[in-house]
Amino acid sequence: MIRVNSTARAAAIVTLVVVALLGSAYVLGRSLVPEQPRRHATGATTNGDEPHYADQLPPEPSGTPSASQSTGPTEAGQDGSGRDASGDRLFGAQTGTGNERLALTFDDGPDPRYTPQVLAALREYDVKATFCVVGENAQNHPDLIQAIVADGHTLCNHSWHHDVSLGNRSTDQIRADLLRTNAAIRAAAPEAPIVWYRQPGGAWTYPVVSVARQLGMTPLHWSVDPSDWQAPGAGKIAATVSTQVGPGSVVLLHDAGGDRQGTVDALRRILPELSTHFELEALPTDPT
Ligand SMILES: [Zn+2]
Repeated sequence: MIRVNSTARAAAIVTLVVVALLGSAYVLGRSLVPEQPRRHATGATTNGDEPHYADQLPPEPSGTPSASQSTGPTEAGQDGSGRDASGDRLFGAQTGTGNERLALTFDDGPDPRYTPQVLAALREYDVKATFCVVGENAQNHPDLIQAIVADGHTLCNHSWHHDVSLGNRSTDQIRADLLRTNAAIRAAAPEAPIVWYRQPGGAWTYPVVSVARQLGMTPLHWSVDPSDWQAPGAGKIAATVSTQVGPGSVVLLHDAGGDRQGTVDALRRILPELSTHFELEALPTDPT
């Protein structure tokens, strides 16, 4: 009995020593690992003060468009889940055209570097599209708004300053933002109907959907997203669109918010094929 007890005591002591050593190692290990909270910062809390933006990405430092290729995965994940989602992340936002036709949408402009190139490509193939414009860009480039309308394309409100967090603000703030954007568009094109709203980042909330509807705009999401904002190259953008589109698709592209030459080049590759296999439409300004 005594020997058994002493063996048990020895085992208990060994156990305590091992536990203590493991605990020390854990504490030491934690102290050696650098803190990483910044890597988990969500893009949803952007300050919105940068001039460049894209739907999936918080504003980037200006002049470094290539940096987006290796950064910003958190927002990509956020929008990826939005794309596949179930309606509860979309709050009823429309993801398709609602008919057999296919719609190309161009976000974040207008931009004097890329919008004219997009317009030229669309004109070449006699394709009409929809431009989701940012209010401050509309104010700065009224001539481009007029060019978009003159070519028969339709317009979509994309908030005043591409505020990814707009949906979390008060309904008064949301309403003021959307009205200010519409006013800037109408200052350039007084007769142009604005019956669509696309929330930056696809970060829909119930309030932003509600306010958009109250103002006579249908919330518009998308169904095909080649992540052209990441500048993956024209080939990849074109391949993603070609393989994912189908009747009723709404394709998300960007004519501003960074280096969009890849998008322009991809557009020239896909337009012949798309216009052969689908009827492309500008989203109607009298949605039923
Ligand atoms: Zn956008």
